[in-house]
Amino acid sequence: MKIIRRPHVYLVGRQTVNQPEIDNFLADHNVTGWTTDTNVAAEVLPEVAGRLCYMSFKKPRPGGNSAYLGHIKEVGHGSVLEHGVFNFIITGVSRSFTHELVRHRAGFGYSQLSQRYVDESVADFVEPDCIGDDPELHEVWKSAAQHAQEAYVKLVEGLQAKFQNVEDKTLRRKMARQAARSILPNATETKIFVTANARSLRHFVELRCNEHAEVEIREVAAMMLEILQKEAPNVFGDYEFLTLPDKTKAAETKHRKV
Ligand SMILES: Cc1cc2nc3c(=O)[nH]c(=O)nc-3n(C[C@H](O)[C@H](O)[C@H](O)COP(=O)(O)OP(=O)(O)OC[C@H]3O[C@@H](n4cnc5c(N)ncnc54)[C@H](O)[C@@H]3O)c2cc1C
Repeated sequence: MKIIRRPHVYLVGRQTVNQPEIDNFLADHNVTGWTTDTNVAAEVLPEVAGRLCYMSFKKPRPGGNSAYLGHIKEVGHGSVLEHGVFNFIITGVSRSFTHELVRHRAGFGYSQLSQRYVDESVADFVEPDCIGDDPELHEVWKSAAQHAQEAYVKLVEGLQAKFQNVEDKTLRRKMARQAARSILPNATETKIFVTANARSLRHFVELRCNEHAEVEIREVAAMMLEILQKEAPNVFGDYEFLTLPDKTKAAETKHRKV
């Protein structure tokens, strides 16, 4: 049984700008000479979307994309940030983490490891630091996780025997695993593919990279924010990290829920 103590966040997808088509659109509307000063698609596209609302390409205010998106956040015209989209894979997280994550509905898409199809007899388990750092509590936790996994293996075996009249082997396995998984703890490691737009990601960060959020989701939210600040500083650069009394990270901004 492998015990995991840290999550992993992979940024696996980002957008690209189709500049020739933006140029065609501008030319079709007699706009010449408009450019922006960023190459980041998740910054360019919200600016184009915002400028389209008022057809304000001809006389842009000074300050470039940073000032433009700063103003968008200031006035709360956050819907244009929905045009910036990112794809993540998150691994080394618990089922309790993903249960909290998938509550974020607006602007999020998910694909998660299936416990109906995938064999969890070799699953890893995610241990909270406050338990892992305490030798006595760690033993209690480890032994409970081990027992649950052993029970899972026995249940899968028993259920496969019970469903032996089901001819389709894959279906038989699925029927066994979907029932046996009920014994697995929240600590069971899972993997999830997450696609989200910048506006939703900001809302997620505000709720989950916050001192009131649970520790694991806060850690992931902080990791995602660190990536996003590098990827699209004009969209996410207004967040400031702070260290909480327990030495974990949180973040705050003056532009809440744009
Ligand atoms: C510290 C903390 C503690 C929590 N504790 C609990 C708990 O004890 N129990 C529990 O069940 N949940 C709990 N939650 C989850 C919380 O209630 C939300 O489900 C979760 O944070 C997602 O937030 P959201 O609905 O704003 O996000 P999203 O679903 O992404 O929605 C974003 C925004 O879109 C709008 N919106 C989305 N759907 C609708 C809709 N159907 N109708 C109208 N407006 C909509 C709202 O403005 C919403 O804020 C907790 C969350 C946090 C951060």
